[in-house]
Amino acid sequence: MGHRRNSTIKSPMQGRKSKRYMQDRKLFIYQMLGNRCVHCSESDKRVLQIDHKYSDGNKERNLSRSQLYKKVENSTHRYQLLCANCNWRKRSKDFKVQSRNNILWRTKVKLFSAGIISITIIIIGVYHAT
Ligand SMILES: [Zn+2]
Repeated sequence: MGHRRNSTIKSPMQGRKSKRYMQDRKLFIYQMLGNRCVHCSESDKRVLQIDHKYSDGNKERNLSRSQLYKKVENSTHRYQLLCANCNWRKRSKDFKVQSRNNILWRTKVKLFSAGIISITIIIIGVYHAT
């Protein structure tokens, strides 16, 4: 869309989505989304994640990075940046809402939160050990 200025230099990796290309692409997409967490304004890109605003993100989990970036580019208003902390918080809130609507979900949620809790315990354990 006209944002590639160095059109004279043609990379042989262009078709294969080089690491460098993906890095630029990520920065471009993050910029489109405001470069910071919409909840707490965290701007450290290492912890920022692309979040689907309307929480039908289950499908998105199977997308490759470039597919996801393309979707974000095509419908920026449906996505936002969240830092890892806010993303986890949002996720647990969303799951509660969904489980209220769907009994089958409730079982899955329980299993999932049990997973999160054990992961959190492990992470906390690691932090304390170092
Ligand atoms: Zn945040």
